[in-house]
Amino acid sequence: MRRKVQNTLKASVAFEGPGLHSGQPARMVLIPAPAGHGIVFKRTDIALGNTRIPARWDLVERSPLCTRLVNTSGVSVSTVEHIMAALAGCGVHNALIEIDGPEVPIVDGSSAPFVRGIMQYGVHRLGVPATAYEVLKPVTVEKDGARATLLPSDRLTIEFHIDFAEAAIGRQSKVLDMRNGSFARELCDSRTFCRQADVEAMQANGLALGGVPGENAVVFDGERVVSGAGLRHSDEPVRHKMLDALGDLALAGGPILGRYVGERAGHALTNTLLRALFAEPGAVRAVACDAAMSARLPGQGLIWSEIPAEQRCVA
Ligand SMILES: [Zn+2]
Repeated sequence: MRRKVQNTLKASVAFEGPGLHSGQPARMVLIPAPAGHGIVFKRTDIALGNTRIPARWDLVERSPLCTRLVNTSGVSVSTVEHIMAALAGCGVHNALIEIDGPEVPIVDGSSAPFVRGIMQYGVHRLGVPATAYEVLKPVTVEKDGARATLLPSDRLTIEFHIDFAEAAIGRQSKVLDMRNGSFARELCDSRTFCRQADVEAMQANGLALGGVPGENAVVFDGERVVSGAGLRHSDEPVRHKMLDALGDLALAGGPILGRYVGERAGHALTNTLLRALFAEPGAVRAVACDAAMSARLPGQGLIWSEIPAEQRCVA
């Protein structure tokens, strides 16, 4: 039986642009890394001290609107969830991510530019088995009417339910088995969204300073979609929540074999769920992937022609 091996990138690839919340520009370079390295950010604009920030759940600082990693020396990188989702969805387990600013470029608000950038060269197989995290018993966390759950399963399935007062969003539910490149095909081009009512409040608090409706975020106002070009999917918001969940779950340190259920959940709650999973005795175990597991991991079977092209609005 052929074992699933760890992957890295075939070649370095760079992205640049402002961050969604800080508005600060940054250049980010994804660099191939050896087996066992994991995904690690490195702040190249900081000269002294420990500038490496491993992409791990236990380094997440509580932040309501994005996922921010802070290393033990206090060096941070913000809004990592969309690049983490792209790497997980393409099956990349090892990469060094050099970045010369405090926040990952928001690009078009989705993971699609990252997926296209990674897959234009493809992934490189390393001769070491991949480690997955198998959920062995149900774990649930709840806060303020939101809930996030992980259930045992032999594959990663993401299920999400949202319920917004805005008529243009309303109730949306979706379930997706993450095998066979489904992340790239179904989720990766769904963009960050927010409500018009939240925009001014966020900007007064120094957030969303790099947000440009229609360019890197979808803004909803009652029954209206404020961004001019419309939506890429009629249920783009729930798809984006699933994208965020994949990115946040990737901070486990490897692929998860389990069923994630998010009900109005956000970044902070998904991180609380991972903390609960690893704190609960017997709830999860690390497994070296065999051939059968390998066929069920995100990124397996991903083909270029299924990756959405740029600027595709259908709804
Ligand atoms: Zn997001």
